[in-house]
Amino acid sequence: MALSRDARNFAAEIRNHDWSDAPWRLDRAGHSRADDTKAGPDALTVEQTRFVKTNVMWVVGQVLSNQDPNFDIYEFAEACGLKTTTASGRKNGGIAAGIRTDTYGRALRPGTWDVDPDEVLTTAASDFYHLADCEHFRRGWQGTPLQWFPIGAVPPRWAPCAHCFPAGQS
Ligand SMILES: [Zn+2]
Repeated sequence: MALSRDARNFAAEIRNHDWSDAPWRLDRAGHSRADDTKAGPDALTVEQTRFVKTNVMWVVGQVLSNQDPNFDIYEFAEACGLKTTTASGRKNGGIAAGIRTDTYGRALRPGTWDVDPDEVLTTAASDFYHLADCEHFRRGWQGTPLQWFPIGAVPPRWAPCAHCFPAGQS
């Protein structure tokens, strides 16, 4: 799955910026310490620089992930110029763990620890759609990919769950 145009562009800016003296220099987007005639003596270590850049990647990745169910945080981190494997060559689970998610692995709404209250959930195999906190749905969920829609814009192939939407409202 290729990154969206927005994701590629955000990654390109994060990658392009030299974060190593970020606490000391206001020097616009695309700053490069190598070309900075006023570069001071202070710079972060390689590890500290990676931490700053990783945090920036996660903050932007949270928004992109919330907007796009197909967003891949690993592809994005790589595009930002970050390594996504551990020393032993495995996929580094810490990269995905930096995104705030609900129990289904969906990215939470930017700036909050909440899911979108106006969304309902279902799966391709299900006949019904549900509110995000429906215990009935959560217990029956087999880990298959979720689909979600704004309330009121659910395709007619799904009917409202009777637990979430007692008769008369939907
Ligand atoms: Zn339900």
